[in-house]
Amino acid sequence: METPAPEPARFFQPGTFEGDVAVVTGGGTGLGLEISRSLAALGSTVIIASRSTDHHSAFLDEGRERGWKVDAVELDVREPDEVHAAANAIIERHGKVDILVNNAAGNFVCPAEKMSPRAWRSVLGIVLDGTFYCSRSFGKHMIGRGEGGRMLNVVATYAWTGMPGVAHSASAKAGVWALTKTLAAEWARFGIQVNSIAPGPFQSDGARANLWPDEEIEEKIRASIPLQRFATREEVARHSLYLLTKEAGYITGDCMVVDGGLSLSAGRMWEPGEKLTRPPRPPKA
Ligand code: NAP
Repeated sequence: METPAPEPARFFQPGTFEGDVAVVTGGGTGLGLEISRSLAALGSTVIIASRSTDHHSAFLDEGRERGWKVDAVELDVREPDEVHAAANAIIERHGKVDILVNNAAGNFVCPAEKMSPRAWRSVLGIVLDGTFYCSRSFGKHMIGRGEGGRMLNVVATYAWTGMPGVAHSASAKAGVWALTKTLAAEWARFGIQVNSIAPGPFQSDGARANLWPDEEIEEKIRASIPLQRFATREEVARHSLYLLTKEAGYITGDCMVVDGGLSLSAGRMWEPGEKLTRPPRPPKA
């Protein structure tokens, strides 16, 4: 087997998610894949949901080889009727859903003044509308079933810091963060926890192609991170998993930031370690 086994058993009890049924949007690539693999390795039934069935095969093949309980559905999260139908099909096939990870996203760098309404709509559609449609459909099921549930929304720290070049994604993620807190407060009485995770930069095919398309940009981003490195997908997945465990049962409406300090360091007047050699300017008359 070429892909090394996921390692969540080093950090979580084997069988932590045994008996759970989890849906991960965008679960066939990048972070979504890593979260899906870790949940499956810890005993959960995992259904990945996204548009391209090509993106599903690696997870389904690995799942079959490792004896995981895995499934996939073709789904465009921008379409509320599709989401509703997929939720019904999943619930019929697997009996229930305990966990929803809203991970699907689209993103690319574009100055706001050049951003077409179509580009804006497309990112808002996947990230904000998609998260709401999935939360609504699976939330209804969790409420009706009466046994609670756990939801995790993947956001980004530029939801509150802002970031030049990603007006669509920053606005959509800010909406998802507001939705996280709102649903957490609304659905706590049904035993449904809703949290977010805000990763800093990590490598994925999507991010490499659209956010740091060359070495120079990648290096510039790395240098701006106080911990001086990108996150690994494994560590972001590990922290995501914690928020989905029963041990995190009293946490709701929260956002775990896993960004190496990046969001602390915008607009610095002084670089840590830099010598202050410049003489002070004379006071203005
Ligand atoms: P990625 O590998 O590019 O994955 C994006 C996933 O979203 C794909 O699996 C894609 O699957 C799915 N998707 C896109 N449009 C969809 C739609 N309309 N309906 C259903 N699924 C759709 O992304 P990633 O870099 O791992 O990012 C994962 C999450 O982390 C995202 O929420 C992203 O915003 C967040 N994040 C990433 C970074 C980073 O540095 N990479 C930093 C902060 C936050 P299909 O093509 O099969 O539909």
